[in-house]
Amino acid sequence: MVDGLLKNLGVCATAFTGGHHPVHTPIDGSAIASVTLEGKAQVLAKIEAADKAFQAWRNVPAPRRGELIRLFGEVLREHKAQLGELVSIEAGKITQEGLGEVQEMIDICDFAVGLSRQLYGLTIASERPGHHMRETWHPLGLVGVISAFNFPVAVWAWNTTLALVCGNAVLWKPSEKTPLTALACQALFEKALAKFADAPEGLSQLIIGDRDAGEALVDDPRVALISATGSTRMGREVGPRVAARFGRSILELGGNNAMILAPSADLDLAVRGILFSAVGTAGQRCTTLRRLIVHRSVKDEVVARVKAAYAKVRIGDPRQDNLVGPLIDKQSFDAMQDALARARDEGGSVFGGERQLQEQYPNAYYVTPAIAEMPAQSDVVRHETFAPILYVLAYDEFEEALRLNNEVPQGLSSCIFTTDLREAERFQSAAGSDCGIANVNIGTSGAEIGGAFGGEKETGGGRESGSDSWKAYMRRQTNTVNYSRELPLAQGIVFD
Ligand code: NAD
Repeated sequence: MVDGLLKNLGVCATAFTGGHHPVHTPIDGSAIASVTLEGKAQVLAKIEAADKAFQAWRNVPAPRRGELIRLFGEVLREHKAQLGELVSIEAGKITQEGLGEVQEMIDICDFAVGLSRQLYGLTIASERPGHHMRETWHPLGLVGVISAFNFPVAVWAWNTTLALVCGNAVLWKPSEKTPLTALACQALFEKALAKFADAPEGLSQLIIGDRDAGEALVDDPRVALISATGSTRMGREVGPRVAARFGRSILELGGNNAMILAPSADLDLAVRGILFSAVGTAGQRCTTLRRLIVHRSVKDEVVARVKAAYAKVRIGDPRQDNLVGPLIDKQSFDAMQDALARARDEGGSVFGGERQLQEQYPNAYYVTPAIAEMPAQSDVVRHETFAPILYVLAYDEFEEALRLNNEVPQGLSSCIFTTDLREAERFQSAAGSDCGIANVNIGTSGAEIGGAFGGEKETGGGRESGSDSWKAYMRRQTNTVNYSRELPLAQGIVFD
């Protein structure tokens, strides 16, 4: 299924055949390749090579570093369709979403190229005569990227393009569920390196491995920054380990995203927003809409319309004309069924959630997206289940809706559908949503790369992608220069 595609993307056959770790496609559950998992020794060797590469790369002028990313963007444009198809095969995303993920890589390349001429510092007024103060930004060192299965290519690109223009070397450990897209990204990056000609060896390396390889990266003091995307469970382990050696981390962890649907909302818009956010990527986005907090006066109408929209959703092979592809694996299906059973136990009324296409694909897991009307924000609602389950809660007063929005451990994305300016502004105010993303009349998912991406609380607090997220990949230095013939001390101190 993938041999030709991988070869066209520049991946050598030995990298995806003859290994001991099978790679499955969620489309039909079959094994499509096998890779060799790397252990601690290989990780350490790669760290050493990356360290050497960093020593050279940090001295390359930033706009020249940007040129490498410009070339990479060109390579991605040429291979967008093929890489998108591979994302569909390995992660189960529908064609549009697979292509969208590659487009996100291209977008961040463009952003990073511009950034390579804008790594601005400040000049600061000094209190001492004949003195000049400024703030400069320097490359940080080695950046370790650990990524999740559900954004198998974009998250790496977000981190790597910024890290490289900032003058760092990168080591990437993708999810063990999606090594093929990672091999393809690495091969495409090498095409850009070949055009660039003089980048140091080992500048951006791939580590095919599982949790053990991730831990080797996390524990090594030479890795200045760990940018880890995945479950809150993973972040709970990684965060303290990196902190224990005073390393830096960017944690991008689980979400439990809500929409407040106010009585004044444009319901046509809201139903479309719910559909894309709740069932897109089969509910397997960190920003998937998981909680609908709807005003009691419109709840029955909204739920009826959402159910009608769900009934029309085409489920099946993500490469055909469908809107919902498979769950990643059986474990994910079991977690969804457990959550629905718990929802019923906690007083919920469940619609959908059944397995589909079982006869056609006995080893793959397709489901109808589920809606669970809940009497309260009970335990199961407060937990992220990485599957298409939309919990519905009714509210009467706006303050109650806001409280429900914030009363979960996670803090990634949130939105409100309203035409009431006061509610919209209140939602985005200091006393409003406590999430990293708060949208008005837009669903919770589908962020653009220009903004900083990430969330609060158990989502980990990290920010990556746009805005000034690049600062996390650099070290800040305060410089004071004395160009006078005196040596005045700050705070007027006299010391003689
Ligand atoms: P996961 O936590 O199982 O794995 C993520 C990555 O962490 C994998 O590469 C894995 O090998 C590695 N890993 C696991 N334990 C580790 C450890 N102890 N040390 C080092 N590395 C370790 O997550 P998943 O199932 O692949 O992805 C789904 C989860 O990711 C969801 O919770 C989703 O919300 C979250 N996610 C968050 C964002 C975000 O930006 N906030 C984006 C995408 C996915």
